[in-house]
Amino acid sequence: MRILIVEDDDVLRDGLVAGLGLDGFEVDAVASCADARAGLDAGDHAAIVLDIGLPDGSGLDLLGEWRAQGVATPILLLTARNLISDRIDGLDGGADDYLGKPFDLSELSARLRALLRRSNGRAHSEIRLGALTIDEARRQVRLDGLEITLSRREYAILHALAAHPGHILSRAQLEDRIYGWQEEIESNAVEVHIHKLRAKLGRDWIETVRGEGYRIARL
Ligand code: CA
Repeated sequence: MRILIVEDDDVLRDGLVAGLGLDGFEVDAVASCADARAGLDAGDHAAIVLDIGLPDGSGLDLLGEWRAQGVATPILLLTARNLISDRIDGLDGGADDYLGKPFDLSELSARLRALLRRSNGRAHSEIRLGALTIDEARRQVRLDGLEITLSRREYAILHALAAHPGHILSRAQLEDRIYGWQEEIESNAVEVHIHKLRAKLGRDWIETVRGEGYRIARL
């Protein structure tokens, strides 16, 4: 799950990139409103973590601008703990959640998973498709009750497909979701990961749709 972080505090931003990275998110990070605008256009982000006090403007104004443009990406605001007005303005302005600074990284991570679930129309943190279950909080995959060990990117691909059963995701869309800006994408990386997933799960779970991409098979 690829997310965009907009935070001008270097220490906090680096900490978020590292910490959320360890929790399995692909993280792109910027430090200004201008870079956030460019960043949103450049990537297929599943959610945005947005600071309010930014050097070239307010995160609240940026939020309002995005919502006015029809940007529907879930947005979590980082607010100063004592400013209730920021939280109210943020939620009324189209934010989906907020977290007061200072906060615990594991709470931010859990809140992001909850936001992403809701934006996918799910209430529960487990995806079940027949014999296959994906526990998002633990990033654990089970097939017929047996845990399957997946690499980080294998998990990201399987999760992206399983979160939208029946939808086709193209190779480019999958690359977009599993690699951040800083990362070099090997030319056939998605194919290699799909191949490994099929070796671990069985061939039938992921269907190739010729000329279009991949989708989770209806079993
Ligand atoms: Ca700030």
